[in-house]
Amino acid sequence: MNEFDLISRYFTPKTYKPGVLLGVGDDAAVLDVPAGHRLVTAVDSIVEGIHFPIGTSAADIAYRALAVNLSDMAAMGAIPRWFTLSLCMPRTDVSWLAEFAPSLTTLAQEYEVELVGGDTVRGPLNISIQILGVVESDKWLTRTGAQVDDVIYVSGVPGEAAAGLQLLLDSSLQADVESRNYLLQRFYRPKPRVQLGRTIRPIASAAMDISDGLFTDLSKLCAASHCGARLDLECLPRSTAMLTTLGEAAAWRHALHGGDDYELLFTVAPHKIASLQSQLSQLPLTCAAIGKMVAGTGVQCFDQGKPVRVVGHGFDHFQPDEHGHAL
Ligand code: ADP
Ligand code: MG
Repeated sequence: MNEFDLISRYFTPKTYKPGVLLGVGDDAAVLDVPAGHRLVTAVDSIVEGIHFPIGTSAADIAYRALAVNLSDMAAMGAIPRWFTLSLCMPRTDVSWLAEFAPSLTTLAQEYEVELVGGDTVRGPLNISIQILGVVESDKWLTRTGAQVDDVIYVSGVPGEAAAGLQLLLDSSLQADVESRNYLLQRFYRPKPRVQLGRTIRPIASAAMDISDGLFTDLSKLCAASHCGARLDLECLPRSTAMLTTLGEAAAWRHALHGGDDYELLFTVAPHKIASLQSQLSQLPLTCAAIGKMVAGTGVQCFDQGKPVRVVGHGFDHFQPDEHGHAL
């Protein structure tokens, strides 16, 4: 199969919605940004052995490549509309493509985004997607807008994706079938929180998606917004699947430091909380208030009101603070 056949067979949508003036097949795509909107774009590449374990199915790779980009649109409060795909594969493997392409199409249809172009090259497996979205001209979400006293929220259960990855990598870790399947899904199939991003767009003061772990990403939000954060560890959501599989201490660590969650982290000014809560009650997901922005820099953690020192990332980095508290 030559490159032309491959593109026309797997990566050429049959029809486009009116916003696509020119899609796959020409030298470039031409897109119509609706009046009163801005173009929002991001790109994320995923590489075998780094962003997903070797042996991950083509369907899961396709899902992940697009999902992480949709998550960036969610974090901006934008409506994802189009994407381009740069596919680098060691060889033309028809059975791999026959799994990859439909999975990509299924997620694209679910989120109403259209493939408008790309590139196909030979080399180590690497999938790069650039996403394009639109957002109302008056407001989009950034990491920079949080202010002292804003309440910090997180969607879903941070740490579950890392728990899923740990199950994949550590064969000695036991889990019941239901928990195992659930946590693996959370790693392989993170749900881009686009609807949540749209809901909080007019309400949140700052937002970002969590890809590197809650603690690290909240630290980035603090730096961008020039404030500090107080994180109340007892408020972190933790699921039964995570607790029964990992135990209490590791569940805490994953909640704070696990990566790959693609949940949204956002801040809301105190006078907008009632409005947020009524909007959130319409959505099929939960968000937890986990702390608040404070004067200063960096993230300070508290457990039941007592300060706890958290150093570094990942495992075994909890250390007792000067009061002797440790997790
Ligand atoms: P060019 O040499 O102009 O870059 P290509 O032969 O690389 O053209 O691509 C031909 C057309 O197919 C272009 O419209 C390009 O955007 C599209 N395309 C190439 N690879 C992909 C892919 N993996 N997914 C979607 N569209 C692709
Ligand atoms: Mg090309």
